[in-house]
Amino acid sequence: MRLIIIVFIICITNLGCETVVPIFNEQKAFNHLLAQCEFGPRNPGSDGHIKTKKYILDFVQELVDTVIVQDFSFKSALENKNHNGTNIIARVNPTSNTQILIGAHWDTRPLADQDEDSRNYEKPILGANDGASGVAVLLELADVLNDNRPNIGINLVFFDAEDSGVSGEDESYCQGSIYFAKNLPIKNIKEAIILDMVGDKQLSLPIERNSLNFHGQLIRKLWDRAKTLKLDAFKGVVGPSIYDDHVPLYQYAGIPSIDIIDFRYPNAFTNYWHTVEDIPENCSPESLGQVGRLMVDYIFNRKFYNDN
Ligand SMILES: [Zn+2]
Repeated sequence: MRLIIIVFIICITNLGCETVVPIFNEQKAFNHLLAQCEFGPRNPGSDGHIKTKKYILDFVQELVDTVIVQDFSFKSALENKNHNGTNIIARVNPTSNTQILIGAHWDTRPLADQDEDSRNYEKPILGANDGASGVAVLLELADVLNDNRPNIGINLVFFDAEDSGVSGEDESYCQGSIYFAKNLPIKNIKEAIILDMVGDKQLSLPIERNSLNFHGQLIRKLWDRAKTLKLDAFKGVVGPSIYDDHVPLYQYAGIPSIDIIDFRYPNAFTNYWHTVEDIPENCSPESLGQVGRLMVDYIFNRKFYNDN
């Protein structure tokens, strides 16, 4: 009888409690952002690109169950040049029935062609936000997953060659995710979340319009949870459509995919996107922390995200 009562009390207590989820360390995430920027610009063909590939590989190989290296070659429309690219897929629980993809691009743009000063057009960007921020969140997630095993399969995918496209030609962007989607190295991906430009100091995350069409249900669940968790960078408004790595995943592989992106960097009045101002000083650990905490909740608090 005593045992039954104790079990009963535990059940009642649990009803009102949130599951305790692991901590996402935003400072450690930010250190990954700084480390990538220390390698310099990371556009395909650069020295920084080679160093960053090694940095990501060395880091995840120690922490996850399996790493898949997917090499490809592509033509950079922006430079009119051929390059080699590499998608890196870090897998936790690869045999689980439920497989989730969380991705970010690790390359940076070869030219600062949105810079105010035309003398900077030919310079590569440092990509603290556009590139390093999403990767930084993924690397810290790899660390979290090493300490805390999830109940589902998580695939942290580092896409290459997202940012060598030319304006007006969508498919000249996202070369890594297009290759991935057409040559799927993993099967049965239930859904995908892309993180891009999530490091902005003045982080503001509206709902990206394509994402609402591709997987509105997941968008609603994530933004609802963000509200509950008081992650106030997540804004319940619909923003513009953006062609990012989630689009090929949906179009070529049929994976319901969404993009978490703050395209106004830093705000509606100033633009650091694709300029030489995309530097660590314009990013913050707190911003990475908001996105990282929601991703940890998504991975470990499954009761809020499962289909009803
Ligand atoms: Zn970009």
